[in-house]
Amino acid sequence: MASMAIIRRKLSHTQLHLRIVRVRSLSDSASASKPLEKILVANRGEIACRIMRTAKRLGIRTVAVYSDADRDSLHVKSADEAVRIGPPPARLSYLSASSILEAAVRTGAQAIHPGYGFMSESAEFAQVCEDKGLTFIGPPASAIRDMGDKSASKRIMGAAGVPIVPGYHGNEQDIEVMKKEADRIGYPILIKPTHGGGGKGMRIVQSPEEFVESFLGAQREAAASFGISTILLEKYITQPRHIEVQIFGDKHGNVLHLYERDCSVQRRHQKIIEEAPAPNILNDFRSHLGQAAVSAAKAVGYHNAGTVEFIVDTISGQFYFMEMNTRLQVEHPVTEMIVGQDLVEWQIRVANGEALPKSQSQVPLSGHAFEARIYAENVPKGFLPATGVLYHYHHVPVSSTVRVETGVEQGDTVSMHYDPMIAKLVVWGENRATALVKLKDCLSKFQVAGLPTNINFLQKLASHWAFENGNVETHFIERFKDDLFVNPANSVVAEEAFNAARFSARLVAACIIEKEHSAWKENLSGDNGSLSMWYSSPPFRVHHCARSTMELEWENEYDSSGSNLLPLSITHKPDGNYLIETGENNFPGLEVKATNLDDHDFRVEVDGLIMDVSLAVYTKDQAKHIHIWYGSHHHHFKQRMGLELSEEDESQHKPSFETASHPQGTIVAPMAGLVVKVLVEDGTKVEEGQPILVLEAMKMEHVVKAPSAGYVRGLLVSTGQQVSDGSVLFSVKVSHFTFCILFIVITYKMV
Ligand code: ADP
Repeated sequence: MASMAIIRRKLSHTQLHLRIVRVRSLSDSASASKPLEKILVANRGEIACRIMRTAKRLGIRTVAVYSDADRDSLHVKSADEAVRIGPPPARLSYLSASSILEAAVRTGAQAIHPGYGFMSESAEFAQVCEDKGLTFIGPPASAIRDMGDKSASKRIMGAAGVPIVPGYHGNEQDIEVMKKEADRIGYPILIKPTHGGGGKGMRIVQSPEEFVESFLGAQREAAASFGISTILLEKYITQPRHIEVQIFGDKHGNVLHLYERDCSVQRRHQKIIEEAPAPNILNDFRSHLGQAAVSAAKAVGYHNAGTVEFIVDTISGQFYFMEMNTRLQVEHPVTEMIVGQDLVEWQIRVANGEALPKSQSQVPLSGHAFEARIYAENVPKGFLPATGVLYHYHHVPVSSTVRVETGVEQGDTVSMHYDPMIAKLVVWGENRATALVKLKDCLSKFQVAGLPTNINFLQKLASHWAFENGNVETHFIERFKDDLFVNPANSVVAEEAFNAARFSARLVAACIIEKEHSAWKENLSGDNGSLSMWYSSPPFRVHHCARSTMELEWENEYDSSGSNLLPLSITHKPDGNYLIETGENNFPGLEVKATNLDDHDFRVEVDGLIMDVSLAVYTKDQAKHIHIWYGSHHHHFKQRMGLELSEEDESQHKPSFETASHPQGTIVAPMAGLVVKVLVEDGTKVEEGQPILVLEAMKMEHVVKAPSAGYVRGLLVSTGQQVSDGSVLFSVKVSHFTFCILFIVITYKMV
């Protein structure tokens, strides 16, 4: 391991080199080609929309490509032209190089922007674009190739003086040799596939006894997932931070960095909140990181946007090169916010041969930015991706300090085919504290209804004291899980949560009845003036205040087992207020005044407290769903509808709240997805933990394993079949009893 002194010496050499490199300005970039007039964006979702926005601002026409699942999506609507490239599975559309190239030729696009994911890190694709005379808006194919192999990239970086994690990055794969290397490095060690991504196939090995099994398992998984079984060994850093540096290079040899991002807060090894700059680091450390990243980029002759990822050992204070991502990252907007530059514009310009528009000293760091990734996912189920329709989608207005990068609109479906990200919320503030206040405020106003999201979880994360203090590290969520997740077994917390829902339910009742009342009044003033007063809203009764009832079922995402029913009695008072009671002795009635402002918004007054409330109502699975947002609260209720189903209908439209009950021992799909492999036949005798089938959805693979030894029964699904969330997969029967615990190993596909 290089000592800090050696690193400093090497870096000061780099610094010197940077100073003598003349950074050319846009005006003297004589070798730039004719400006691009039309680019094809080989991607979908928010990143395609974001790239097109910049292209449009530059007057460049845009071509979208789309699969059948995306024909009506926002990125298609945002483009000047759009070309169908195939059916929904990504391998047949967004990963089909020939279809994308054909689309470029057909529309006369001069360049291809790959975005992130899909073709962005395919050296072959970058090469074939250049061979066909199309500008690839990204790095040279050689750099993509060098950095695509984690072992090779570490060897290159080590030779260039960039610190690397102590480990074994050689070609030898013999298990005995590797075991000796592991002993040399010292446990705990991390086994990584050399061609992996998305945290997939990595294994932590705590002791020599575990080595052989983990090694063989990692090799198998690497071969199955990446087609290459080679692995590398690294010292496992027990308390790390993930800090990465944005670098940029042009085709004239200029390279600079645009400071760092901290992406330590991760779930399933994937980032959910990123920020720039990294909190609680000294400027000296910051500049070492930046210079190391520039050295890394120069070592592979890099141009265009890239990210050098470092792992920082918070105990020793050392930082080490982890890998280089040869593309624009998902989280690039936080960098844009602190440097005031548009990185997509830089990408387009340097791809076209122009020099970097700024020198290192011309990009000062200003303020602080956060990005929160809003996903359709089921947090209590271990953040499994979710699918569904966005019945209601409303977010804060964008401004110079708030960005919402999204690829979906209200009414769109988040399908199982692609990444479940709904939006990236990006905020900027003059310092970390003000940016965080803004992040929390915008999250509380980010309204999504129709599918489960991680918004409530993000709010909790952003409000956690350790996050507020900037004490971030990669085990943050695991470390603070008791604070971040509601444990239904903790009766105090569970009761508090139910009380909050009780309060919300009463606001819901007041708003819904007030809305009906306003609608009735509107009808009365129209042609329907003949409506009888006995059917009025509120109903007119002689000598009595009218009363109505409503039964709401709280959708408690953390505990659906207990009763979450809230029967409400609403008294319509002559002054227009509603007295709402839950019928529980220890919860006195609440008097609420609700004023309907527009379709979704209300102003309510409760005991002298006036506040704004938003409501979204839609019908799904034979139930009326009502969401309410106010302050930092969001609750979801269901109101059952009294519809009778015929037996025939019932099989198709079974309400989701009834599918949860299955015979004991039944194993259900933990998410909607595609069955990509069925590994055993029905009736097979299996061992505990034996993989039974593999489900894939939204870039994630889930291996469903046998919970115990026994016989597989009722395995009727087959490869290529799509299954919905909660549908029955199989059961494992042991002579006298059945196990019903579902063991899922979550693995990941490349981002
Ligand atoms: P991938 O390319 O599969 O995403 P990375 O090498 O980028 O794999 O690592 C993913 C994550 O795993 C990192 O962000 C970090 O949280 C963790 N990690 C990687 N290397 C180490 C290590 N040597 N020690 C501890 N954690 C690590």
